[in-house]
Amino acid sequence: MREYDLFIDGEFVPSESGETIDAQDPSTGETVATVANGTPADMDRAIAAARKAFDEGPWPGMDPKDRAKVMLDVWERLAEKAGEIGELETADAGHTIRNSSLFSVPYSNEYWRYLAEAGGKLNYTEPVPKYVFPTEAWEFVERVPFGVCGQIIPWNFPYMMAIWKIAPAIATGNTVVLKPALETPVTAMALAEVIAESDIPPGVVNVVPGDGPTSGEALVSDPRVDKVAFTGSTEVGRRIMQLASSTIKYCTLELGGKGPNILLDDADLEIAVPGSMWAMYLHSGQICHAGTRLLVPASLYDEVIARVVELAEGFKVGPAADFESDLGPVINQTQLDTIERYVEIGQQEGAKLLTGGERMTEGELSKGFFFQPTVFGDVTNDMKIAQEEIFGPVLTVIRYEDADEAVRIANDSIYGLSAGVWSRDTSRALATARRLRAGTVWINDWHLVSPAAPFGGFGQSGVGREHGEWGLKNYLDVRYVHVSQTTSKDQKFWFQVLGL
Ligand code: NAD
Repeated sequence: MREYDLFIDGEFVPSESGETIDAQDPSTGETVATVANGTPADMDRAIAAARKAFDEGPWPGMDPKDRAKVMLDVWERLAEKAGEIGELETADAGHTIRNSSLFSVPYSNEYWRYLAEAGGKLNYTEPVPKYVFPTEAWEFVERVPFGVCGQIIPWNFPYMMAIWKIAPAIATGNTVVLKPALETPVTAMALAEVIAESDIPPGVVNVVPGDGPTSGEALVSDPRVDKVAFTGSTEVGRRIMQLASSTIKYCTLELGGKGPNILLDDADLEIAVPGSMWAMYLHSGQICHAGTRLLVPASLYDEVIARVVELAEGFKVGPAADFESDLGPVINQTQLDTIERYVEIGQQEGAKLLTGGERMTEGELSKGFFFQPTVFGDVTNDMKIAQEEIFGPVLTVIRYEDADEAVRIANDSIYGLSAGVWSRDTSRALATARRLRAGTVWINDWHLVSPAAPFGGFGQSGVGREHGEWGLKNYLDVRYVHVSQTTSKDQKFWFQVLGL
C-alpha cells in the first residue's frame, strides 16, 4: 500500500504529530493509501518554506520562459504517468475509470501544459495609455507575482483542482502551499512526487493535506501568505473571505453552483436529453458546475421526462474501477446521508420522485457509497432541492411556459457558476444565453471548459476567475512605474506648488 508524507521544502516529511489518515476507496471501503495529516505546525513549516523560496529563491525572478520550460518537463512526466494517476483518482475519489482515463486526468494534464506555456508567453510589462502631465513622463505597468499563495481544494476532482491551483500560480512566479481535502489527498501527493523529481526549486510547491477548520484556517490566516485561492462550498468560502480580511489578502473563490439547464422548445431532443444527463450525472453529480436544474417547456415536459427517466434507469452504477460502470459511488457516508436527506425534503416539498431516491446496497455495492440516479419532476424553483446544492446524482426538473419565465427561473438563485441552453437555432440560444447570470454558459454542450477561457462564478458562486489570461493575471499584482522625462527644475511644475 502506498504511503505519503507531507511535501515541504522539496522533501517528503512526516507530520509533526506523527498522525496519518487512511485514504479510502469509496467503491469498496478499502484503504488506498495512508497519508500524513498536516497540523497547523506543519502549515507553519510549509509557509516558511514557501516564503523563503519566494523571498530568497530564484523562481520569482526567473525568465517566465525558463519557468515554463521547467514546468513542461513536469508535464511530460505527468503525461507518462497519466494511467497510474487515473487509477489512483478512481480509487481515491471514485471517478469511474472511464472518466479518469478519458477525461479528468488527461484534461487536467492539458491544463498544466497550457498554463505553463501561457505563463511563459504572458506580457508582464504593459504601456500605460498616453496621458499628458504638465511634464513629460514614460509610464508602464509591471505585473509581479503576489508572493506566497495559500491554496485550498475540495474532494470532488482532487487532481484537476490541484493542477488548476498550482500551475497558474507557479507559472507566474509565485510559491504555493496547497491543502488538499482530507477525503481525497492521494493524487495531489502523486503530483508532488513528480514535482519533487523536477527542477522546480525546493519550497516553490508545498503540499500539506489537513483538516479544514484547523490547518486550513492556519493557512488562510497567516500573515506570511499574500494570496488565498479557495475552491469549495459557498459556506466555507464565506469563512475564508472573513479570515483573509484580517491581513487584507487578495482572495479568489470558486464556490458552489446550481446550474440551470434550459431546453428551448426547438431543441434536438436526441442530443439535448442525453446532453442534459451528461450535464447532471458525470461523477454522480458531484460537480460544482453540473446542470442540476433542468428547465423544460410545458409543451415538451412529458416527452422529456419519459426520456430522462429511461436514460437514468439505464445507467449502470458500479465500482469505479470497473470499465463497465457509467456512474460510480459518491464520496462517503456523510455525502450519502446528505443526499438521502434532500430526497426526503424533496418529497415533503411536493416534488414527484420519478425514479431512484435510494442507496444501493446489492452485492458488491454494499461495501461502498452508491446512490441511485434520481430524478424529481414537478419541481418549483422555490423548493430547497432547486435552491441548494445536493452534490449527488439528483436531477430536478422544472416546467416553464415561455423563454422569459425560463430566464427568470434560471437567474433566481444565489449561485451563478454555470448555465446551458439547448436549441437548434444558435441565434435564439445565444439571445437566451446572454440573459443568464452565470460565469460559464454552454450552448448545446456541457462541462467543456477550456484552459484558455476564464472560469468562475457570478453571485455567491465566487470571486475572480481562473485560467487563461484572466486566471494568470489573478496571480499577479500590478506595479505602476512613472519615469520622469524632464531633467530641469523649471520643467517641474510641483516646485511651484510647494514653493520650493
Ligand atoms: P468544503 O467547502 O467543505 O471544503 C473545501 C476545502 O476547504 C477542503 O479542503 C476543506 O478541508 C477546507 N475547509 C473546510 N473548512 C475550512 C475552514 N474553516 N477553513 C479553511 N479550509 C476549510 O467543500 P467540499 O465538500 O470539499 O467540496 C464540495 C464543494 O466544492 C461544493 O460546494 C462544490 O460546488 C464546490 N466546488 C466548487 C468548484 C468551483 O470551481 N467553483 C469546483 C469544485 C467544487
